[in-house]
Amino acid sequence: MIDLRSDTVTRPTPEMRRAMAEAEVGDDVYREDPTINLLEARAAETFGKEAGLFVPTGTMGNTIGVKCLTTHGQEVICDARGHLLNYELSMTSWFSGCQIRAIHTEDGILTWDAIQREIRPLGPHAADTGCVELENTHNMAGGTVYPQAVIDDICDRAHERGIAVHMDGARIFNAAAASGIGVKQMCAKVDTVQFCLSKGLGAPAGSMIVGSEANMKRARLYRKRLGGGMRQVGILGAAGLIALETMPHRLSVDHENARTLAAGLAEIPGIRVITPVPATNIVIFDVSSSGKESAAISAALKLRGVLINGINPTTMRAVTHYDVSAGQCVQALTVLAETLA
Ligand SMILES: *Cc1c(COP(=O)(O)O)cnc(C)c1O
Repeated sequence: MIDLRSDTVTRPTPEMRRAMAEAEVGDDVYREDPTINLLEARAAETFGKEAGLFVPTGTMGNTIGVKCLTTHGQEVICDARGHLLNYELSMTSWFSGCQIRAIHTEDGILTWDAIQREIRPLGPHAADTGCVELENTHNMAGGTVYPQAVIDDICDRAHERGIAVHMDGARIFNAAAASGIGVKQMCAKVDTVQFCLSKGLGAPAGSMIVGSEANMKRARLYRKRLGGGMRQVGILGAAGLIALETMPHRLSVDHENARTLAAGLAEIPGIRVITPVPATNIVIFDVSSSGKESAAISAALKLRGVLINGINPTTMRAVTHYDVSAGQCVQALTVLAETLA
């Protein structure tokens, strides 16, 4: 199977499996798991933050990040196609008691100009804004990357108004690979960052949240409340360390494969590529003029060994990762062209 559904489908590398088998472990609720302690320290250091916390999922990382930066009844500003708003079971309202104020964008990238119009002072009719959430890269907009100046500007201006900034950096290392800007510089002004070990970095599970010592102290308690206090979790941490240290360097290969895919898709009648030159590893394309719906195309592709999902009846998303080679991307294009012919 050529699996282009998501970079979450990557399986742990042989090196990860060996490290998992040999991991030194302890009870992490007592903070006695040396592998997790090392992973948390490395993550904090990599991002230039005071502390880090291992969490089982990106959803939990975002949930905790927003909780650290807000109080009940505030608003959280994010992009309208954000993962936080659309794919996390309303955790912002369920756990943090905050309402989301969504902003429509072309490319998933918020600007201070757009944000400031949605900030409302607390008054008899309006709730105040607790935090701004930025998704980098932006998944549903097609793996788009925030320009550094935009991140810095949003953080500076938000902080002037007492508003914090959380970054959903599920694929932040893809952003770093594409922009050439390291995550430390990228996140210097951001208050909390969540990033996934389990996507393009290949770990079997896990995400990290990094931020100030005070926020991570609270984050640890929120993780426990969410049922995320784990014991000998260094088994996962060992894979996470390899993900963090060795996998970011190869992400540009995935980006190149995504560009190959996009260029090939543009040649297929019935397909309009929404991301003609994908910024990272996500290709989004419209199939409405093919006369077939996404679900039917997915089913036909599956019969021929290619997995690509629709994100709605007319739009599909292909994601490259280390478990699909350049050759397999070319093969997927052939299968797609034949399927639509
Ligand atoms: C995958 C993803 C998450 C959440 O990760 P899970 O581990 O699946 O909970 C959050 N944000 C973005 C942008 C993602 O792509």
